[in-house]
Amino acid sequence: MLNTLRLKGSFKGGVHPAEVKELSKDVPFERLPDPKTVYIPVSQHAGREAKPLVAKGSTVKKGELLAESEGFISAPVHSPVSGMVTKISKTAHLSGAPKTVIEISVAESTDTSFMPPLDPKTAAREELLNRIKEAGIVGMGGAAFPMFVKLSPPPGKKIEKLIINAAECEPYLTRDYRLMLEYTDQLIVGIEILMKITGVECVIGIEDNKPEAVEVITRKLGSRSDISVKVLPVKYPQGAEKMLIYAVTGKKVPPGKLPVDVGVVMQNVGTAISVYKAVVEGQPQIEAWVSVTGGGITSPRNLIVPIGTPVQNILEFCGGLKPEAVKVVAGGPMMGNNLYDYSAPVMKATSGLLALTGAETTADGAVACLRCGKCVEVCPVNLMPTRISQFSKLQRFEDAEAAGILVCMECGCCAYECPANIPLVQWIRLGKKEVIRLKQQERKTA
Ligand code: SF4
Ligand code: SF4
Repeated sequence: MLNTLRLKGSFKGGVHPAEVKELSKDVPFERLPDPKTVYIPVSQHAGREAKPLVAKGSTVKKGELLAESEGFISAPVHSPVSGMVTKISKTAHLSGAPKTVIEISVAESTDTSFMPPLDPKTAAREELLNRIKEAGIVGMGGAAFPMFVKLSPPPGKKIEKLIINAAECEPYLTRDYRLMLEYTDQLIVGIEILMKITGVECVIGIEDNKPEAVEVITRKLGSRSDISVKVLPVKYPQGAEKMLIYAVTGKKVPPGKLPVDVGVVMQNVGTAISVYKAVVEGQPQIEAWVSVTGGGITSPRNLIVPIGTPVQNILEFCGGLKPEAVKVVAGGPMMGNNLYDYSAPVMKATSGLLALTGAETTADGAVACLRCGKCVEVCPVNLMPTRISQFSKLQRFEDAEAAGILVCMECGCCAYECPANIPLVQWIRLGKKEVIRLKQQERKTA
């Protein structure tokens, strides 16, 4: 395998949680039937929320623009169905806080309003970049950052390497694994489009626990040398941006800096396939690929879901929750958010819904810190999680910032390892939000 390299070394820290991928790894994608009503949040991305262009009573076609981007860091939102807008209001959102949602009653119609297909070989670079912007594509690796922005480096910064993040290091999730097996050709064309836009070669980073994906991609790549595969040791959080960049390039992204500061643009497997769909099929980002898994769901599956579908519909399609399910998490078990309202809709970057049983969660309450230092040992970015979480709990936000709270990537390794069950990352997350809010307030006042 000419274009495949197996890496041995790894980053400092990290943990080895049980993988539990077997529940859904062999279940091919299946399309969820359209629900009767979809709820499309205008905020599905990092940055400013999109501005609605429709009103109650508007009829829309599948693929039609519903809300336009507001400012540079924002993304437009399109309709995943044909139907009629019945309401625009604030309602349940996967983030936990209610957000503006466009409610659409779904009509039985095969009409679409997609963009004209482009030929990736003959389309100009600017045309392709503009298509990504118009299609509202956001990163599907977690932060949902508008892709167009990532592909437009600020003056003075140069992209030298494109990395496709195919690590999928979160336990349970099998979305990216199934995408690599089932959409290999579309993935490679998506990568070729991204290479044409950035003008650089590409490395696909895959964890060593996905040999079938490594095999199929390597076989399809044949002898070409502009796209290569790096097989990475299995360790969480190998798929975190900074960890993967270090594994692939040997470069360290300094605290407070971005991948582009070391010449890297990173995209997720699903994002690259969304690029293929937007360019070759003219389809905006209106669907999410979602793993529905965990010991608490009756029938684990991998689904293609129209954005805006309520979580409850998806759980029902998978046979419902088992009596022993104690919680549902949006995302992976390490970085995902607990869900308190199952009417919240799926968004562009939703990667998984986990129904977990008591045996799969740390149900025991927290006790006082044992000063064992394990949280410090496993932190991949050399922080002192116990100290920072204490500052956050005590609302000493200046001290938390000085101790590096903004460097924390919320990987959850510290909380996972803590024998006292202290919700370290949850406290840090709260503190981080407050530190960012205070800084924004300071800037406004200034
Ligand atoms: S402090 Fe942040 S980066 Fe370090 S282990 Fe905890 S969650 Fe991860
Ligand atoms: S791992 Fe938990 S118990 Fe050990 S030092 Fe960190 S916070 Fe304290």
